Amino acid sequence: MSDTKFVFVTGGVTSSLGKGIIAASLAKLLQAQNYKVTIQKFDPYINVDPGTLNPYEHGECFVTEDGAETDLDLGHYERFLNEPTSQSNNITTGSVYQSVIDKERRGEFLGKTVQVVPHITNEIKFRMKELSEKRDLDIIITEIGGTVGDIESLPYIEAVRQLIWELGPQNSIVIHLTLIPYLSAAGELKTKPTQHSIKTLMESGVKADVLVCRTEHHLNKKIKDKLALFCNVRSDAVIESIDADSIYEVPLLMQKEGLDKVVLKTLNLSSPVSPDMDKWKRFLEKLKFPKNIIKIGLIGKYLEIQDSYKSILESLIHSGTFYDTKVEVEMINSEFLNFKNVNSKLINVSGIIVAPGFGERGIEGKITAVNYVRENDIPFFGICFGMQMAVIEHSRNVLGLSSANSTEIDKDTKHPVISIMDNQKQIVNKGGTMRLGSWSCDLKKGSLVHSVYKKNQISERHRHRYEYNNDYMKQLEETGLVATGINPDTELVEIIENINNKWFVGVQYHPEFKSTVLNPHPLFKSFMKASLEYYKKSKV
Ligand code: GLN
Repeated sequence: MSDTKFVFVTGGVTSSLGKGIIAASLAKLLQAQNYKVTIQKFDPYINVDPGTLNPYEHGECFVTEDGAETDLDLGHYERFLNEPTSQSNNITTGSVYQSVIDKERRGEFLGKTVQVVPHITNEIKFRMKELSEKRDLDIIITEIGGTVGDIESLPYIEAVRQLIWELGPQNSIVIHLTLIPYLSAAGELKTKPTQHSIKTLMESGVKADVLVCRTEHHLNKKIKDKLALFCNVRSDAVIESIDADSIYEVPLLMQKEGLDKVVLKTLNLSSPVSPDMDKWKRFLEKLKFPKNIIKIGLIGKYLEIQDSYKSILESLIHSGTFYDTKVEVEMINSEFLNFKNVNSKLINVSGIIVAPGFGERGIEGKITAVNYVRENDIPFFGICFGMQMAVIEHSRNVLGLSSANSTEIDKDTKHPVISIMDNQKQIVNKGGTMRLGSWSCDLKKGSLVHSVYKKNQISERHRHRYEYNNDYMKQLEETGLVATGINPDTELVEIIENINNKWFVGVQYHPEFKSTVLNPHPLFKSFMKASLEYYKKSKV
């Protein structure tokens, strides 16, 4: 702990400026200079974790190896750093209050009045330092969710103030991400919102050391100098963050602006080697100059919010880029998909992913899509709910069990081909009680997935309550839908393949959580290859 240095990232002016991407980009540059670095996110909302939040509220819920349901920024951290995060990398106000209240109930405060300062702020500081106690880390980057000035962020900013003081000089740095709006009527970039945001931060006793300025137009020296003067930072610490075509360009843009250099200098750390970004650059090169373009259909229901399927979309970029291919994702709302329009909606796609999901809305459309791709032998990739839909479709249309369903949708179905696990039946609390995190899975030799993973056993991350019902395995397998991945301890079916199709795979887990820029997920790669082959064949 004593050697770990801290970088705090705060946001000003407006939300959605991309603090997570800036934090991940900085971490990438530091990692490329051999620093041991991690990122953590503090979210000011009262939910204990985002697991109970609707995707419309908060986008995707990212799941870590150790089974934490977390903010989607952790997905960016993993995809950039190529390293797993954990439970301790995402803290919410709800989880902070929960542990303080638990301590109060246990009488640990010895009769004292429990208050925001010092008890809540102490707990926040404890969580901010926790990873440095557990792991050997040179630098921890801490992203504070929300915008400076929000009522709910106040305890976090106060905790940052105290921690900076406790750590002493050159052991911490504050990066403030802000927006420089462009007024087209005046033809000018405006610095005033940033000045106010810095002032608000200073009122809480925190001084920004670096300004990262989101902007649609380049900042000239005059603007940078003005920002430096009014916001109390050095000129080389005013970093332009111009809009980029891809989030994966941001590390190189930040390197060009010298963000890593300013951070290391302020922390009194040397840059022994220049950042090794060669592999990253090669990826970007392939991303920018693709040789093929294909359309992949993503069947889901939370389509209004792109962030709902963030990790799947990023995994498609990783695997597409691997094959020099730009993937155009056609988002198809399963609620409006039926037997009459399925052909016209899916005719142009070369592969279909049926997305994860919960509840009844839109499931008949998903089942219709599976039916269409199975009968037309289009590459099919079912993820979690998508895999369950494939089992239901097969049971209904191949086995003739017309009422086959998941008990999530129809509790009393005559044919519960997907049903709730026994140990889930008694659970009443919704938060944190699904089958979560990493589980092992044995792969059947000779199967497609065995040839894809090139391993006998894998481990993948889960987030679901319902399961394939092994009572139907014999009938399903006899008609081509084979269970090719089984959990060695519980015998739960984790993977199904239709052996009558060229590429038809459903997985009960979420492979999208393990795909990174430098390590695209093998199943996504294989799906991409099959979709490209389908595309090339369908063109001739
Ligand atoms: N609703 C399904 C279940 O709970 C699938 C969940 C998911 O797709 N993540 O089992």
